[in-house]
Amino acid sequence: MRIIIVGAGIGGLATAISLHEAGLRDVTVFERSSAIRGLGVGINLLPHAMRELTELGVAADIRALGVTPTTLRYFTRRGQEIWSEPRGLSAGYRWPQLSVHRGRLQLALRDLAEARLSEPIRLGHQLVATMSNDDGTETARFATAAGEVEVTADVIIGADGIHSALRALRFPQEGAPPWSGLTLWRGITRIPAFLDGRTMIMAGDGEQKFVAYPVSEADATGDTLVNFIAERRIGGTGDADWNRSVDPAPIAALFREWRFDWLDVPAAIAQAEEILEYPMVDRDALPRWTHGRTTLLGDAAHAMYPNGSNGGSQAILDSRTLAFHLATAADTPAGIEKALMQYEDARRPAMTALLDGTRATGPERVMQLARERAPEGFDDIETVIPLSERRQIADDHKAAAGFLPELLNERRSLTPPRDRFAAQAEAPL
Ligand SMILES: Cc1cc2nc3c(=O)[nH]c(=O)nc-3n(C[C@H](O)[C@H](O)[C@H](O)COP(=O)(O)OP(=O)(O)OC[C@H]3O[C@@H](n4cnc5c(N)ncnc54)[C@H](O)[C@@H]3O)c2cc1C
Repeated sequence: MRIIIVGAGIGGLATAISLHEAGLRDVTVFERSSAIRGLGVGINLLPHAMRELTELGVAADIRALGVTPTTLRYFTRRGQEIWSEPRGLSAGYRWPQLSVHRGRLQLALRDLAEARLSEPIRLGHQLVATMSNDDGTETARFATAAGEVEVTADVIIGADGIHSALRALRFPQEGAPPWSGLTLWRGITRIPAFLDGRTMIMAGDGEQKFVAYPVSEADATGDTLVNFIAERRIGGTGDADWNRSVDPAPIAALFREWRFDWLDVPAAIAQAEEILEYPMVDRDALPRWTHGRTTLLGDAAHAMYPNGSNGGSQAILDSRTLAFHLATAADTPAGIEKALMQYEDARRPAMTALLDGTRATGPERVMQLARERAPEGFDDIETVIPLSERRQIADDHKAAAGFLPELLNERRSLTPPRDRFAAQAEAPL
C-alpha cells in the first residue's frame, strides 16, 4: 500500500512513524517548507498521547526534551485558587504528561521518522491539487521550486494543519478559520521556578487569562524556562499566522496588576525573548474527512482552541488510529476504503464533540464561573462553585478528550497485533 502524507508537522510525522511501526513501509512525507525549522513555543502532550509514543517506542527520546508537570492549578485574576488537580503519573495514569517546546518536539519526530522511512522527507513540496484515478488510486500535485510534480498513491493523508490545502480542495467554500475575538500572545521566558517547579497554572477568565508552565528543569540559580500564553479580547484581524512577532512591553502592560506572591506575570511577559501573536481561531466541525482514498488528520481535520491542550495530543491519537486501521485492512481497494471509514468513525464524532466543548471553554469553565459568581473574589471557593461541580467540569473534559485515567489505563492498545487481520473484530477505538 503506497501512502502519501502531506505535512511534516506533529501529526504528519507521528503518522509516518505510526505507519512504519504498523508494518506499512511505502510511505512518503511531503512538506511545503524548504526546511523543518522547529518553530513555535510550548505544547503539552497529555497521557493518552504519551501512551501512543510509548507504544511506538519513541517516548524516551521525546520525554528527554521536556518537563512532566505534576499539578494543574486554576486561579482568579487576583491569584485566588479555584481548582487544583494532579496530572500525569501523579494522577494515577500509567503514562506522564509532557510539557515541551513544539519546535524541539517536531525536530525529534523528524529525526525519528527519517531514521525509519526508506525515503527522505520531500521538502519544498506544496500540495495544490489531487486527482482520483479510474483504478481508485489518487494522484497528488505539488508545487515545487522546479515546477509541478505529480505522485500517485493508494492513500493521501492531509496532515497539513489549520490552513490545510487538502481540506480547502474538499470544502472550497469554507474560507478562513473563524476567530473567537481573543488574541493569544505566546512566549518563552526565563524566570525563577514557581510553586513546585512542575506546576501548570492558569489565571483569569474568559476575557483575560494567563497560562504558564515550565518547559525545562530549574538551573543552578533556580531559574527555569517557562512557556506562557497571555490572552485578551482586543481588536485585530483574526489572521492566523503562527510566526508574527510583537513587542512584549504593551502586552506586559495589559497584565500590570497581575502580581501574585508566587509569580510576577508582567515581569515574566516583559522578559520574554520573543512574543508571537496569534488569534484564537479554530475550524468548524466537518461532515466528513474522507473522500475516496484521501482523508484528513490533526489540525487539518479538527483544529481547536488551545483550552485543554489538545492540538498535538489529538493529532498523535489520529495517527495511531489511522495506522491501526490501515495495517489491519485487506490490501484491496475495498479494504483500504473501509479502513479510512473506520478511522473516521473512530475519531470524527469524538473530535466534533470535543470541538464543541473547547468552544464552551472546556475545563477552564470553572474560571469563567468564578468570575461570574464572585467578581470581587471569595473567602471560600466552596461557596462559589462546590467541589462536586468543579470535579464534574474537569472529568467531563477528560472524558470528551479521551483521557479519563481509569478508561485510558484499561483501553486496549492501538498497536496492531501480529496476526493483523484478526484485529478487525476488535478495534480498540
Ligand atoms: C509554525 C507553527 C508553530 C506552531 N506553534 C505552536 C505552539 O507554539 N503551541 C501550540 O500549542 N501549537 C502550535 N502549533 C500548532 C500545533 O503544532 C498543532 O495544533 C498540532 O500539533 C497539530 O499538528 P498538525 O500536524 O495537525 O499541524 P501542524 O503542526 O500545523 O503541521 C502542519 C504541517 O503541514 C505543512 N503544510 C501546510 N500546508 C501544506 C501544503 N499545502 N503542502 C505541504 N505541506 C503543508 C506545514 O508547513 C506544517 O509543517 C504550531 C503550528 C505551526 C505550523
